[in-house]
Amino acid sequence: MSNIINNDKKYIANTYKRFNVVLKEGKGSILIDENNKEYIDFSSGIGTNTFGACDDEWVDAVCNQAKTLQHTSNLYYSIPQVKLAELLIERTNMKKVFFANSGAEANEGAIKCARKYSFDKYGKGRSEIITLQGSFHGRTIATLSATGQDVFHQYFYPFVEDFKYAPVNDINALNDLINENTCAIMIETVQGEGGVNALEPEFIKYIDKVCKEKDLVFICDEVQTGNGRTGYLYSYMEYGVNPDIVTTAKALAGGLPFAAVMFNTKVENTLSYGQHATTFGGNPICAQAAYSIISRIDNDLLEHVKECRKIIDEELKKSPYVKYTTGKGLMVGIELDDKKLAVDIVQKCIDNGLIVLTAKKRIRLLPPLNISFENLRRGLDILKKVLESE
Ligand SMILES: *Cc1c(COP(=O)(O)O)cnc(C)c1O
Repeated sequence: MSNIINNDKKYIANTYKRFNVVLKEGKGSILIDENNKEYIDFSSGIGTNTFGACDDEWVDAVCNQAKTLQHTSNLYYSIPQVKLAELLIERTNMKKVFFANSGAEANEGAIKCARKYSFDKYGKGRSEIITLQGSFHGRTIATLSATGQDVFHQYFYPFVEDFKYAPVNDINALNDLINENTCAIMIETVQGEGGVNALEPEFIKYIDKVCKEKDLVFICDEVQTGNGRTGYLYSYMEYGVNPDIVTTAKALAGGLPFAAVMFNTKVENTLSYGQHATTFGGNPICAQAAYSIISRIDNDLLEHVKECRKIIDEELKKSPYVKYTTGKGLMVGIELDDKKLAVDIVQKCIDNGLIVLTAKKRIRLLPPLNISFENLRRGLDILKKVLESE
C-alpha cells in the first residue's frame, strides 16, 4: 500500500470509506493516479468539477482572482459577488441571493429563512417543514434533521424538531401532513444521495401549487441537480414552477467550496441585518470561479448534456446487467441486475480505468458536463465490460 494510503489511515479521522486509489492530477474528464495510471472520470468529484479537472478557463478565473484579492470580509462590497449575483438573478428570475460555503450551509440558510418568514407573518409555532422520504439535505444537525432517512437520525440527539417526511410522489400523503403549523416544503427534484430518484412532474407541480395556496415556503434543494446537471440551468426550470428558495452548491464554483441560497419575491427581504452571516461565504475566488462556470452554462452545453444522456441510455440498454437507468441529464442512476453489488462494480471500474459513484444500491454517474462523446463512449465500454466480467 502506498504511503499516502497508510498515512491517511493514520492521521485523518476515519469518517470516509475510501476506494483504493490516490488521484493526483487531471485534465478535463481524465484523471491520473499516483502511479500515473489514467482514468475516465464519470464522477466530477461528486458532481462538483463542472467542466472536469483543471479546465483552462476555470483555472484562469481562479488564478487571476487569487492574484488580485483572495478575500475580503462581508463588511465591504465585493465586485466578484455582485457580478455573480447579477448573473444568477438574471438567469433564474429569483430576486436575491445569499452566498455560503457548502450545500448543508445553504440549506441551513433556507430553513432559517422559511421559519423566519412564517414567524414574521404568523408568529411562533408555525414551524413545521415537510421534506421527503429518501431525501438528503446535508450533515449539520438541522440538515440531518431535514434528511428523510432513518439511518441519518442516530447518535447525535437531540435533532432539530418539526421536520416531517412525506413519501415521494404521493399527493394525498403529503396533504395529510400539511396542517396549520406547516411553514415549508423542501424537495430535491431528483433525489441524489437517496438513489437518483426523479420525482414525478405532477408531484413537483402540486407542491408548487399547494405552497402558493397555503402560503408555505417552497424550497428546492438544487445542491446536486443545479448548475446544468439535469440539462437545465436549475432543474426546477423544466417544470414551470417557481420555488421561493433555491439552494445550490456542488457544481456552482467548478470544484471550489461555494454555495448560494436564492430567494424569490415572497422571501427576498426575510433575512435582514445581523440575522444570517458567514466569514467565507461569497469569497472572491469562489465567486469568480462560479461566475466563469455559470456564464458557460448556455443552451449548447445543456443540449450536450441531453445528447450525452441519450448515448448513455442507448449504450446501457445493450447490457443485460442493467435493468434500467434513472435520473435526468448527466445525473444518472443505474439499477443493476440483482446479482451485482454496486460497490464491487465501482472497485472493478477503478481497476479498469473508470471512476464511477454509487447512490444507495445504484451506480451513479455524474460526468463533467462537457465530457466529449469519445470519452463518454470509452467510459461506457469499460462499464459494460466490467458488468460482463465474473
Ligand atoms: C451534497 C448535497 C448536500 C450537502 O452538501 P455539502 O456541500 O456536502 O454540505 C445537500 N443537499 C443535496 C441535495 C446534496 O446532494
